[in-house]
Amino acid sequence: MLVVASNQIKENYLMQTGWRIGSLFGIPFWIDSSWFWALILVPLLNANSFKATGGLPIALAAGFVMALLLFGSVLLHELGHSLVALSQGIKVNSITLFLFGGVASIERESKTPGGAFQVAIAGPAVSFGLFLLLTLVHQTLPRSGIFQVLISDLAAINLILAIFNLIPGLPLDGGQILKALVWQLTGSRFQGVHWAARSGIVVGWLGIIAGMAVVLLNQGFFNGLWLGAIGIFILNNAIAYDQMTNIQEAITQLVATDAMTNQFRVVDAKLTLRHFTDEYILANSLSADQNYQPVPFYAASDGRYRGMIVMEDLHHIERSRWETETLQNIARSLSEIVSLLEKAPLLEAINALETHQLKYITVLSPAGAVAGIIDRGDIVRTVAAKLKLPFSEADIKRIKLEGTYPPTLPLQSIAKNMNN
Ligand SMILES: [Zn+2]
Repeated sequence: MLVVASNQIKENYLMQTGWRIGSLFGIPFWIDSSWFWALILVPLLNANSFKATGGLPIALAAGFVMALLLFGSVLLHELGHSLVALSQGIKVNSITLFLFGGVASIERESKTPGGAFQVAIAGPAVSFGLFLLLTLVHQTLPRSGIFQVLISDLAAINLILAIFNLIPGLPLDGGQILKALVWQLTGSRFQGVHWAARSGIVVGWLGIIAGMAVVLLNQGFFNGLWLGAIGIFILNNAIAYDQMTNIQEAITQLVATDAMTNQFRVVDAKLTLRHFTDEYILANSLSADQNYQPVPFYAASDGRYRGMIVMEDLHHIERSRWETETLQNIARSLSEIVSLLEKAPLLEAINALETHQLKYITVLSPAGAVAGIIDRGDIVRTVAAKLKLPFSEADIKRIKLEGTYPPTLPLQSIAKNMNN
C-alpha cells in the first residue's frame, strides 16, 4: 500500500514546473513531471490486490483507474487546505500533483495560530470525510466485484492520507498543526516552526531507516524504497523550513543601519552638468580600475543635501544646456525619493527594493541627511554574517553588480512571506 504525502507549502519552496490541467475556484491545477512515475508505480504496486478479481491486465487497468482516483482524492485534500486559506483572504497560487502527492502553494501564512491550525487540519478532515463516505458506499455495493475492491481500497487510501499526514513533523499537515500549537503556547511563530521542523527531521530519518529495514528484511523492495524516498523528501523539506525560519528570524533582528554602507558620493550641487559628467562619470568609466563600481551621487550645497542625482534625468536635458544647468536643478529632493530611516527594520529595505524595482535605497538620519545606502549585496552580506553563512566578498560583489539575490538566499520571496 502506498502512502502519499500532502502539504501546503509556501511559494518559495516550490519551482512551478510541469503542465497546467485546469482550475477550480480560481486556483490553477498543475501536474509535475514526477507525477507520471506515480501513475506507473501505483498500478504496479497495487496489482496484487486486484489479481483475485481477474487476470493481470484487468488488475493493471484497475490499478491505473485507482491511481487516478487516488490523485483525485489528493486533489480534494489539497482543495480542503486551499478553500480554508481562501476564506482567510490568503491567495492560493496553485495546487500541484507530484510524485509524493500534492502541494497547495499558498501566498502567505495565516496571521494567527488558530488560522494556521484551520488551514492545516482542513486537508486531513476532507480525507477522513471521503473515507467515511466511501465506506458507506462500500456497504451498499454487492459483496463481490472489482468495484467493491476499488471502493474499499480507495476508502483505505483516504484514511491513510488523513492519518499519515497528521504525523507531527513539517512539511506534513501534522507538522503545521504542531507549529500552530507551539505558536499558540509560546506566542512565537518562529518557535512553532523550529519545533515542527525539528520533529520533521526526526520523522524523515525514521522513514529512511524504516525503508532500509523493509528492504533489508526482504519485506518488499519497492515498498521499502518508496518509504525511504518519502523519508528523504520529508527530511529535505523539514531542513528547508528550519533554514527559512532562521533567515526570517535574522531579518527581524536587523535594522537599516546594520546593512547600510557609505558607498555613495556627495558632490557640489552648484556644479554644471558638463563639469559633473566630465569629472565624476567619464573619468571613472574610462579608468582601467577593475574594482570600480558605479555609486549613487547626492548633491549638496551650503551644508545641506539638495537631493539625489538620477542619471536618466541627465539624459532628458539637452546637451547644449549642460554647460549652464546645475545639479541643483535636476537633483531629486530627499523627501521625494524612496528612503528609509536608520532604525527601520531591514525587512522594509528588502521590500522597498522589490516594490520600487531599485538597485539601492537611501538611508536617512533623523536630521534628514544621507546616512548610507543599502543594496541587495549589502543585505545578503548582513544576513549571511548574522547566520554565519558562507558568502565571500566576490559573491557579494557579483550580487551588487547583478542586482539580484542568489538562488540559495531568495530574500525577496522570503520577505514577501513575512508581510503579515
Ligand atoms: Zn495536507
